[in-house]
Amino acid sequence: MTRVGVLALQGDFREHVAVLSGLGADVSTVRRPAELDEIDGLVIPGGESTVMDKLSRAFGLAEPLKAAIADGLPVYGTCAGLIMLADTVLDAIAGQQSLGGLDVVVRRNAFGSQNQSFETDLDVPAIGDDPVHAVFIRGPVVESVGPAATPLARLDDGRVVAVEQGNLLGTSFHPEITGEYRFHEYFLSKARARS
Ligand code: GLN
Repeated sequence: MTRVGVLALQGDFREHVAVLSGLGADVSTVRRPAELDEIDGLVIPGGESTVMDKLSRAFGLAEPLKAAIADGLPVYGTCAGLIMLADTVLDAIAGQQSLGGLDVVVRRNAFGSQNQSFETDLDVPAIGDDPVHAVFIRGPVVESVGPAATPLARLDDGRVVAVEQGNLLGTSFHPEITGEYRFHEYFLSKARARS
C-alpha cells in the first residue's frame, strides 16, 4: 500500500488525513525529519504559512523537506501549503521563508478584507469534467506562473488558483473540507508511481 504523510505542524491536517484514508491510502502525520523517509508523498495543509514556516525551521524539518522536494517527492499544498511550496511569496511577514519548488509567485491573503473567504465553482480539466466547488479561506492567489509550472485552474477574472509542476501540486482553496477528493486522488497517483 502506498504510504503518504500529512505535515502536522499546524493547520487542518486532520481533514487531509481523513480524505486520504477514505481513498485507501496508508496515511501518517509528519512532524519529525525521519518520518519523511517512510512516505511516498506529502500533503502540506491549510493553516497559517507564517506559523508553519517558523515551526518547520524550529523542528529541523525545513531543510529535509526542501531536499525531499528536490528529490522528486510528490507534494500537494493547499492554501498555506501552496504558499510553502511557492518560490516567491508576496505580502509575506518579515523574515518569512518558503520551502519553494513551484516556479510561481503567490500573494498571501490576496482577496482583500471584504472578501477573504468565498466559494465558487471552477473548471479543472486536469482532474475531471465536473466542476470543482472551491472554498477559499483567506487564500493566496498565484500572481505569476513561471515557465516550469502549469496553471490548472483560474477564477472567472483569469487569476490562477491551482498549479502543477512535476511532482508538485498546489491549490489556493481547500478540497479537503468539501468532499472533493479528486485532487487527493491525483496526488495519490503521483505517490503510487513513486512507491
Ligand atoms: N492566510 C493564510 C497564510 O498566509 C492561509 C490561509 C489558509 O491556509 N486557509 O498562510
